[in-house]
Amino acid sequence: MNYTTLTPTQIKETENALSEVVAAAHLLTSEPMKKHTTFRVGGEAALFAAPDEKELPEVLRILSARGIRPLVIGNGSNLLVSDEGIPGVVIKLGDELSAITVDEESGTITAQAGARLGAVARKAAEASLAGMEFASGIPGSIGGAVMMNAGAYGGEMKDIITAVNFIPAGNLPAASGNAGHRGENTEHHEGNTEHRAEDTEHRAKTAGRRAEDTTMPGTYDTEGLSLHTARADALSFSYRHSIFMEMDVVITSVVLQLERGDPEAISAKMKELNARRIEKQPLEYPSAGSTFKRPEGYFAGKLIEDAGLRGYRVGGAAVSQKHCGFVVNDRNATAQDVYDVIRHVQREVKKQFGVTLEPEVRLIGTFRE
Ligand SMILES: Cc1cc2nc3c(=O)[nH]c(=O)nc-3n(C[C@H](O)[C@H](O)[C@H](O)COP(=O)(O)OP(=O)(O)OC[C@H]3O[C@@H](n4cnc5c(N)ncnc54)[C@H](O)[C@@H]3O)c2cc1C
Repeated sequence: MNYTTLTPTQIKETENALSEVVAAAHLLTSEPMKKHTTFRVGGEAALFAAPDEKELPEVLRILSARGIRPLVIGNGSNLLVSDEGIPGVVIKLGDELSAITVDEESGTITAQAGARLGAVARKAAEASLAGMEFASGIPGSIGGAVMMNAGAYGGEMKDIITAVNFIPAGNLPAASGNAGHRGENTEHHEGNTEHRAEDTEHRAKTAGRRAEDTTMPGTYDTEGLSLHTARADALSFSYRHSIFMEMDVVITSVVLQLERGDPEAISAKMKELNARRIEKQPLEYPSAGSTFKRPEGYFAGKLIEDAGLRGYRVGGAAVSQKHCGFVVNDRNATAQDVYDVIRHVQREVKKQFGVTLEPEVRLIGTFRE
């Protein structure tokens, strides 16, 4: 979850460059991240772009030319952004990139990354396509759901994805075909301008071009900023994991394969699962859903409850009274409050049961220990 930290001068220059290619309404400065995260916490993003389909490649080209790695977000439903905010560029894939196309005959749905899971599930139900019901109540974008391999009630995104379209983002290595360089991309990149200038020309030529056939992640950087397609079986999906977590990409659209089903049964299942959410989850408070991954052989919520931490509070954040697996922002919390609750829970569960709880929520920025 690294992004490039920018100086005030770089921010201004980047804003100027982006404003040439992005509509004013899609480019914001000093934008509070609490407006874009379901936790409703987080400081300001220096630059915040919500591009449409045409603007996105332009934005990426400009950032790449400057060696700037953006933070890409969807609906912000699995993010904890620190109170200091993001002194860099955030790209949000949301309503501007949320078209959904259904091919009823083949059962294929193509959704742009910003489409909400609920909206995709509704379209599927309308077309009598089954298999997406499990995801209808997850409040994320489909791009974020691919990244996280989101799942619920026995279903996972990996069960229904056939292909993912993506554009490499960030400061790509200049040499071609060297997937091994990806590790280098996990550092902050500032100031290797010469490198970038050479790269840019090639990228500008190839940008926007679609890969002719399936390109596996790991061999993509020869094509610079062109659109790539990866088949689902190349994406190393596992519990709350996809290969994209180790890459620098913008997921642009997703192809799903569903099955013909009975529309009433599909709607009934969606209603039933959503009723279960309302009954069990503290949906009345801002959160990011389950805070921790399920440790093998245990349930995070049960461990937290058994550790006596139900309702444990720091400032405005607390372990939910209703579901101990959720940390909620029920009293105007800061991101640090949420973080402090997470760390205390981790320490106590480790101390009492020897089990390591790993956050499912993605932490962005720095927090005080
Ligand atoms: C009330 C509630 C209930 C929830 N229930 C569930 C559940 O049942 N199951 C479950 O799995 N999750 C659940 N979640 C968590 C969350 O909704 C999912 O993880 C969801 O898939 C995140 O999608 P998002 O668009 O909000 O992604 P974000 O939170 O915006 O981002 C998540 C990660 O994906 C990356 N990302 C997002 N979009 C893109 C893109 N287009 N290209 C590249 N990277 C991208 C971000 O950089 C980040 O690393 C719940 C959350 C809440 C608040």
